[in-house]
Amino acid sequence: MSDQNPVFIPGPTNIPDRLRRAMMVQTRDHRAPDFVDTLLPVLERCKTVFGTTDGTVITFPSSGTGGWEAAITNTLSPGDAVLIARYGMFSHRWIDLCQRHGLDVRIIECDWGSGAPADKFAEALAADTAHDIKAVLVTHNETATGVLSDIGAVRAAMNGAGHPALLMVDAVSSLASVPFRMDDWGVDICVSGSQKGFMLATGMAILAVSPKALAAMEGATLPRTFFSFKDMMGANANGGFPYTPPLQLIYGLSEALDMLEEEGLDNVYARHHRLAEGVRRAVAAWGLKLVAQSPDLYSDTVSAIYVPEGFNSDALTDHAFHAYGVSFGVGLGQMKGRAFRIGHLGMLTETMVLSGLATIEMAMADLDYPITLGSGVAAAQDYFRKSRPALSKAA
Ligand SMILES: *Cc1c(COP(=O)(O)O)cnc(C)c1O
Repeated sequence: MSDQNPVFIPGPTNIPDRLRRAMMVQTRDHRAPDFVDTLLPVLERCKTVFGTTDGTVITFPSSGTGGWEAAITNTLSPGDAVLIARYGMFSHRWIDLCQRHGLDVRIIECDWGSGAPADKFAEALAADTAHDIKAVLVTHNETATGVLSDIGAVRAAMNGAGHPALLMVDAVSSLASVPFRMDDWGVDICVSGSQKGFMLATGMAILAVSPKALAAMEGATLPRTFFSFKDMMGANANGGFPYTPPLQLIYGLSEALDMLEEEGLDNVYARHHRLAEGVRRAVAAWGLKLVAQSPDLYSDTVSAIYVPEGFNSDALTDHAFHAYGVSFGVGLGQMKGRAFRIGHLGMLTETMVLSGLATIEMAMADLDYPITLGSGVAAAQDYFRKSRPALSKAA
């Protein structure tokens, strides 16, 4: 088995050699005077990726889950109501985290494969005339189902109801891969992490926080220590950290931002769209169905694909791993056994995507799936040839 094979899981993503090198640095003293020059520019430069000029970027040594926890513990109090829709494993986990923190979690149950229901949010918010709901929580990209939700529509629903709740968005598997417009969408807290669109090792929760969320912090009484915005911002103000920072990741993030800037964010988004569309053409050629219910919900970072009736997706992903040494995403929660996932985010090229499609095709053929070997690869090749960006035609 070769460790050169890419992974096709929707995070952690493949780490470009350039970023692995950038993270390979010897210990340095985070209390030395030059740490200021390391940390502050990185936080500042992240703002572009979040689409904010008003927000403050805050990072914790953690994974995305810690980012969820930081978002709620800094701004809410025990018993506060939050409104959230459940349409996949990640929205489910955020619900669980809120419940364990003693919040009054008002859940809108949705089909897995659908997205954030702006109309149902509007109804619930209009009915909440006492403004008990302190925050609306939305999973931007539901990684379990491959569904991207419309955050602008949720903001419009909140404004339509004239509701003052905070809007918190989990963009862990979308940020730096698809557009995110924090200021335009009136997002108060956006949660992300180092190991998906930023192409780094796991270990940083990266958040952007609006002035309104910072103001909410003052009256909020949920306990927080490690994840305290106040402690972190206080230390950051002098270029420092309240405890030991993940130095290698901070260096990595600086380099990742260089890479994103060199490619250009719009080109990064266009590349993700194009690669995702190639995968979707392959899925159609196989005669299989996406979990995402309609094209407006298709995620450009991950596709969840139903296996045909009578097949088990866990057996397929196991086989791909054992026979070919390649990881694909397993079905999570309600999708266990029913769907597998192809992650197509981070540092990915056409060549890599085609190798993944070819591999999963072989695995399906080995297990007697009713697909034609080569059909998905050919559909993606055809699309990639025809949609080749003009710039690369001369190459
Ligand atoms: C990956 C992911 C998370 C965070 O998971 P961690 O394993 O804690 O980093 C949160 N939400 C979504 C949508 C994700 O894809």
